[in-house]
Amino acid sequence: MFDKLQAQPADKILALMKAFREDPRTDKIDLGVGVYKNAEGVTPVMRAVKAAEYRLWQEQDSKAYVGLVGDPAFSDAMIALILGDAVPRANVGAAATPGGTGAVRQAFELIRMANPQARVFVSDPTWPNHLSILKYLGIETVAYRYFDSETRGVDFAGMIEDLGKAKAGDVVLLHGCCHNPTGANLNNVEWQAVIDLMNERALIPMIDIAYQGFGDGLDADAIATRMVASNVPECLIAASCSKNFGIYRERTGLLMAVSQDASQRGLNQDTLAFLNRQNYSFPPDHGARLVTMILNDDALRADWATELEQVRLSMLGLRQALADELQRLSGSDRFAFIAQHRGMFSRLGTSPEMVEKLRANYGIYMVGDSRMNIAGLNATTVPILAKAIIDAGI
Ligand code: PMP
Repeated sequence: MFDKLQAQPADKILALMKAFREDPRTDKIDLGVGVYKNAEGVTPVMRAVKAAEYRLWQEQDSKAYVGLVGDPAFSDAMIALILGDAVPRANVGAAATPGGTGAVRQAFELIRMANPQARVFVSDPTWPNHLSILKYLGIETVAYRYFDSETRGVDFAGMIEDLGKAKAGDVVLLHGCCHNPTGANLNNVEWQAVIDLMNERALIPMIDIAYQGFGDGLDADAIATRMVASNVPECLIAASCSKNFGIYRERTGLLMAVSQDASQRGLNQDTLAFLNRQNYSFPPDHGARLVTMILNDDALRADWATELEQVRLSMLGLRQALADELQRLSGSDRFAFIAQHRGMFSRLGTSPEMVEKLRANYGIYMVGDSRMNIAGLNATTVPILAKAIIDAGI
């Protein structure tokens, strides 16, 4: 049996991490993997998470199974965080999942179950794992134009034109905020136009929100998701707690199925429970319990929000510093987009050859499509990167 297995393509980002680790240069700079790092290059455990873990250790007296969709208190807290009061709670079916990836995977499975003919429209580019999971599940994907390689913003006209080719029942996958890998995002007027188009053509939105709090703030980053949820007949929302709670390895996420018709909720909820049962039974609990405790405790929540805001502002500061330094060195505004992008990433918009040149000649590691993790920088490395970008001829 095993001899029939075929080698699978290596994950490019994980391969890049390995290459970075094996590079003996001491001045190398890692802008690869999408993990937040502070100025010392550390991915810290957030204070509120530590405090919640301590409290949990003291209070938890059982590790018996919870429910197939996790603790309803986790769903309640996350739905409130993401959707606010955009839709009635009674309209939202939800299930805890292993990370945002688990939520994405379960959402795709639900789509395939409900409508095997549905195609999923994905931004060009999107998070590569979207494409990889869709392919694995045998779901047809159609790319819609998204990144404008001239302006490094969104090619909105191209996006609308391409989504205009979708048929009723097709799914449109959208990043709720902080687009990965480009950092380029729609404004609210553009979001409304996309919503109108989806409604006109009876398309189903699926929102992947993995970076709430990393862009313009906790509420601001959820506005688009709230607009969609309250203005379409139904949608799917896959959320990750990995980044904004810094609990990457705890595997904490939530999948929501939102319907305007509350009578639909029971079936949605049962389907999510069924899908969890088939794939892993009970979702991980530890991270979800920490998140619930933090969101429901005023002091922990305030401390978490403060620390998250510092993380957000530090990334914005690095963006601005890099854009300023590039402006100074190049004497032009052609890198101003770096300060306008939001979230952890910016796509520099250069060729794979240039990305390779930065790695080979300067020890600067970014993903082959020129995605940089802004959090991989600090005050010392910003000018080094800027100089390398200019010296390399980008
Ligand atoms: N969606 C997007 C767009 C992401 O960037 C990520 C993290 N790289 C995820 C989902 C999933 O994150 P996780 O499974 O680690 O929670």
